[in-house]
Amino acid sequence: MTQYSVIQEIKDRLDVVSVIGRYVQLKKSGSSYKGLCPFHSEKTPSFHVFPQTNTWKCFGCGAGGDIFTFVEKRENLPFPDVLRMLAREAGVPLEEVRPEVRDARQRLLDIHNAATSFFQSNLLTGPEGERARVYLAHRGVSQEAIEQFQLGFARDGWEHLIHHLKSKGYSLEEIIQAGLAIPRDTGGAYDRFRNRLIIPIRDVQGRVIAFGGRILGEGEPKYLNSPQTPLFDKSRVIFGLDMAKRAIRARDQVVLVEGYMDVISAHQRGFKNVVAAMGTSLTSQQVQLLSRYSRNFVFALDADAAGARATWRGVMIVQETLSERGVLAPTSSGFRTEKRLFADVSIAIMPQGQDPDDVLRQDPEQWRALIENAIPVVDYIIQQTAAQHDLATASGKSQFVAEVLPTLSKIGDAIQRRHYIGRVAALARVREIDVEEALAQFERGERRRSLKRKTPESPIPPEPPPGVVDQPPDNAILGAAEEPPLWMDDGTASPATEPALPPAPASQPRRIGPEEHLLGLMLLHHDTLWPWLDAELAGLELDPFYVEDFTDPLNRAIFQIVEDYLFDEPEEDLVDFIARLDDAVADHFHLLWHYAQVFEESKPKYIQEQHLQREVVTGLLRLRLEKIKETLRQLEIALNEAATPEERRELSNSFIELTFARKKLEKSLSRYSQTMHWTHNRRIYMMSSTPPAAPVNDA
Ligand SMILES: [Zn+2]
Repeated sequence: MTQYSVIQEIKDRLDVVSVIGRYVQLKKSGSSYKGLCPFHSEKTPSFHVFPQTNTWKCFGCGAGGDIFTFVEKRENLPFPDVLRMLAREAGVPLEEVRPEVRDARQRLLDIHNAATSFFQSNLLTGPEGERARVYLAHRGVSQEAIEQFQLGFARDGWEHLIHHLKSKGYSLEEIIQAGLAIPRDTGGAYDRFRNRLIIPIRDVQGRVIAFGGRILGEGEPKYLNSPQTPLFDKSRVIFGLDMAKRAIRARDQVVLVEGYMDVISAHQRGFKNVVAAMGTSLTSQQVQLLSRYSRNFVFALDADAAGARATWRGVMIVQETLSERGVLAPTSSGFRTEKRLFADVSIAIMPQGQDPDDVLRQDPEQWRALIENAIPVVDYIIQQTAAQHDLATASGKSQFVAEVLPTLSKIGDAIQRRHYIGRVAALARVREIDVEEALAQFERGERRRSLKRKTPESPIPPEPPPGVVDQPPDNAILGAAEEPPLWMDDGTASPATEPALPPAPASQPRRIGPEEHLLGLMLLHHDTLWPWLDAELAGLELDPFYVEDFTDPLNRAIFQIVEDYLFDEPEEDLVDFIARLDDAVADHFHLLWHYAQVFEESKPKYIQEQHLQREVVTGLLRLRLEKIKETLRQLEIALNEAATPEERRELSNSFIELTFARKKLEKSLSRYSQTMHWTHNRRIYMMSSTPPAAPVNDA
């Protein structure tokens, strides 16, 4: 269950009257309940609970919300605690980390730390580390890089690490669980890593969670990794991301290489947006993780065929993950998932016979140029395919066109599609209309095939460019045998890429409403927009931007965290700061952040400062206006059901005050509405204030 549905479930199961009734003596009055407000002192009751809407409101002090807001305020607890408390009461299971599990995890992290230090000291000082030191010097790895990446050495022998960790107080069982020792059939255990250069694998937050070991000299396997452990799931880890994430975001580009040593080499030479997938091919979880930082992927590709195949699979996974999973895009009818195929992926081809490390060591400037001149993946496919055929002959032309049709049909953007149709036509020296017709025919056939293909037994095989397929697949490199083909028609994502975890942003498009729209933009531009909005509101003589502007508990939690964060004027990046928080909050934060990025990408105009400013201030005023209107409706109910003349008088006073506040807001709003943009913004708001239909291809 996603956080969002957990919250809904809790609200559905718990009765607002009985939850609040524990703190406030409530009396039924008509369809609602009332009592003395616990948040301000009063003699006549102006605190109302509305069971139909599961909400509460105090007409005296203005406080209001749902059960989450109430408990949060009354118990003065942070949102995650309230969530746990109410979930327990409602009997809704929370997938959360129990304290004993958290302790066990911490213990595993501690073991990894101890092992890292041990390996490091072997490398730096031990006589046996000499071979590893020579190897690193030979590869040109600097002392600084050795320290930054915490490189180490596992000595030759069966129980060096086990002895060391036991002396630090860890049990053999824990050492085995950490993946650092392998149990013997006869009892006891032996070190997993022996006589290898050790490369610690760290999570996004920089904590060592596993190790990679490279053999020195001859032997198999060349690389040995920690096994799957409670800490380490290689499909969800990106090597080097902890060091690279800032640069990736700053440049809005991530460069993917294959090996650990490539990453180390790039960072050492100042190319800090470089990372590697763990193991043989990129997974969709890894793409999800990376896309938190940038959606522009550059694959550094070895010129040989094996490199091309591995890269090709990576490209496909990115396409699958970022397009088929959908990107939220605002449209005239709400939100839809958008095909953004190929838009964000390019390929940098290394010179023949060289890998990224070779290029970096010989000439860092060449690396820079290769990355800068990376080719968009569609151009790459067209180029490669063209090179396979004799375009002077009729049969060569028709084969070339036929082979690029699957690629062309995947391009969602009409202008790009036209551009590439033109290119293909020019290369083959045929008329554009002929390519278009061939494409239309191909797509009709695809639709028929996909209708027939209801059963998963007959997937269409992937169609990489010819340069990539003309050799039999090398499973040792690709791991191709374990996974079904990824290049499938729209909407039939292969099961292997189905993310089992952190709810992908696109998997819950219903979460984006006016509150999320406003908060997302405010988060993305927190450093500039936040202070601006407060100043603007002060100019309008309105309350500053505050937590009560939000009703959704997750939005409120995020608002409070970010407000505190901004108040502290921290050095730390907001995204890093959030990463350390409770998952419930961090996931929602990333959803909003991602949404705002996509919103801006799809509306480049909004990047201009005034547009953004207008967008957030009108968004906020409209939120407040809606809230006042809702309160006025509740007040009407309360007035009809008022028991005493005194109560009636107080409620009437509130009514007058609120009507005044409403007029003031409407007046402020009209200031901004005198521009053309307002009409446009308003349209978006009206669209997004009703839940959009679920994306069509959300299976
Ligand atoms: Zn009150």
